[in-house]
Amino acid sequence: QIIKAFNALLKRMKVLDDSRQEFVSNVSHELKTPITSMKVLADSLLAQENVPNEVYKDFMVDIVSEIDREDKIINDLLSLVKMDKTSADLNITSVDVVELVEIVCKRLRPIAVKHNIELTLESKRAVTAEIDEVKISLVVMNLVENAIKYNKDKGQVKVEVDADQQFFVVKVMDTGMGIPKESLDHIYERFYRVEKSRSRQIGGTGLGLAIVRNAILMHRGTIDVDSEVDKGTTFTVKIPLIYTNQK
Ligand code: ADP
Repeated sequence: QIIKAFNALLKRMKVLDDSRQEFVSNVSHELKTPITSMKVLADSLLAQENVPNEVYKDFMVDIVSEIDREDKIINDLLSLVKMDKTSADLNITSVDVVELVEIVCKRLRPIAVKHNIELTLESKRAVTAEIDEVKISLVVMNLVENAIKYNKDKGQVKVEVDADQQFFVVKVMDTGMGIPKESLDHIYERFYRVEKSRSRQIGGTGLGLAIVRNAILMHRGTIDVDSEVDKGTTFTVKIPLIYTNQK
């Protein structure tokens, strides 16, 4: 019996070690990619003599965009690592959820306008909940940002806030490109991106939904996704109004 339990434990430790190694190797790869691009760009600039001003500027624009990418990866990783610790790290206060979602939408509206997307918010009732304001803002921010990013020209994003006696619900609906069925199980994995080519053009780290899921689990909430390719996606987040630290 003991040997059986010991073997099961060893197996579990191996799985954890494999996933840790995979994470470290993914992180290294993701952090190295922008650096490699910057080096290639800078080297080729240095190799040329009397570079015309416009060419120089073009190269610099590309270098700055790689720096921005590196910065985003590092920030996302820091958010993720912070949330990998215990739920003791939550800073729970009483929060006006409608106001929180309004603030996030206000911050993202310029990006929606830039992408030609109509962003609307409907709150069915006033909602106050005991949550970590920063982490739940990050959740709504990531979901609405994705709904804008993976949308179509003149598409729509609708955000809805509702509540019952126990939970509040935030729905983020878009009329975008949708997520293929076979990808739905993977979208919360760290660094997972649907079709690398489609996602690369759009930009992102593949860490957003991993952060979203961690933050929701810390609040003992749930996240569900419903999606149809070329029609759109709806993410539904459900979080208890009152925070309890019990499993
Ligand atoms: P990323 O930084 O790539 O946006 P995320 O973890 O936020 O990473 O999302 C993982 C992948 O899930 C994305 O690369 C994208 O392919 C897909 N995805 C996420 N949200 C949506 C959405 N609203 N519509 C279509 N695809 C989405």
